[in-house]
Amino acid sequence: TIGMLSIDAKGNICGACTTSGLAYKMNGRVGDSPIIGAGLFVDNEIGGACATGLGELVMRTCGSFLVVELMRQGRTPQQACEEAVMRIVKKQDYKDIQVGMLAVNKEGEMGAFSIQPGFNYTLTRNKQTQVTDARSYLK
Ligand code: ASP
Repeated sequence: TIGMLSIDAKGNICGACTTSGLAYKMNGRVGDSPIIGAGLFVDNEIGGACATGLGELVMRTCGSFLVVELMRQGRTPQQACEEAVMRIVKKQDYKDIQVGMLAVNKEGEMGAFSIQPGFNYTLTRNKQTQVTDARSYLK
């Protein structure tokens, strides 16, 4: 999945995501990416979030919606991503599973967290682009 979140100069947030999908797909399977609240969710009052990884687990936790709701309750984007990913980790044998969450809030702060290492994201701000390795549960 490629998830994208953006915020303009007026603080308007939007998001999009694509999915490779195929690696996990059975015939007829719908992944998390096209389901609003699972693979992607934006509330322009609060922020936006998107997910990558094993979509069934993201769907079961309404992952992107959860991240935005946690930000609504006062979590930073980083805290919200970590809490949402940890909810999956607590219920699942996570050793061979990847789920990553990415979030931005209305202030333009962002966060990212994954189960496995190797979840990279690109941040472009003021025409400067940097690639960052997200924090992960498994080091
Ligand atoms: N989240 C996608 C899915 O489960 C897979 C991916 O990360 O591309 O369909």
